[in-house]
Amino acid sequence: MGLCKFCGKPAGFLRREHRECREKHNSGAFVIRSMIADSLTSKVDRDEILQIAGESYIGGDELKTLILTGLEEAIDKALEDNILTQEEEDRLKDVLLTFGFNTDELSSNKAYEKFIKALVLRDLLEGKVPNRLNIKGVLPFNLLKNETPVWIFNDVKYYQFKTYRHYVGGSQGASIRIMKGVYYRVGGFRGYPIEETKLTKVDEGVLCVTDKHIYFGGKLKSFRISYDKIVSFTPYSDGIGIQRDSANAKSEYFITNDGWFTYNLVVNLANRV
Ligand SMILES: [Zn+2]
Repeated sequence: MGLCKFCGKPAGFLRREHRECREKHNSGAFVIRSMIADSLTSKVDRDEILQIAGESYIGGDELKTLILTGLEEAIDKALEDNILTQEEEDRLKDVLLTFGFNTDELSSNKAYEKFIKALVLRDLLEGKVPNRLNIKGVLPFNLLKNETPVWIFNDVKYYQFKTYRHYVGGSQGASIRIMKGVYYRVGGFRGYPIEETKLTKVDEGVLCVTDKHIYFGGKLKSFRISYDKIVSFTPYSDGIGIQRDSANAKSEYFITNDGWFTYNLVVNLANRV
């Protein structure tokens, strides 16, 4: 006889849950998540949420996960129309405080990262250089003395448009009739050069965005670009494209997996310079 994983009472032969218990659990989870998702417009009642959690067999860890999922929804909703306001920030912080989240469990969380990203963008829109970065370890770049790192993206893929040249035709296998006084150009023996431009992954590494430059450090390439050397930025869902200010510069792409943030961040920093 198995025990129900929700209520802990006998669930019957080869069974591990009661249907009613699962339904109770799922609807409780839905209600809690929705309440948190609405936390920017209506105040969250901690006791009420704890009561629902208790009645729905939702334990501490699961409750925290539900709260973070709800918070992410709340942040997404808030970011639909504009950047987070101070009031929205306070409400979100209030929820985190109410449920006793600590910095360690938050720092690796996606919803919390989004929250910090939104605050970084708000700083920028208010004309401040954001200082919300917690650097663990040593940066692989030599920043200038008066330069502030604003964000670090890991595992960034760096792409470039590269031109590949190959030859078609040529003398191989072709029969050439020897005629008097006819000069065959050297090029004719190599065939015709064909140029093809392909988007090519050049490297993968760390992208550090500061108030003055974009730094990239990979296994093969390391460089920095000053904002005033960039003539255009192109937003993509998963990253950003840039065009440098030089006659033969080809477009370059940094895939950060967060185009919304990367583009807003870089463009606003570039506008300050
Ligand atoms: Zn049960």
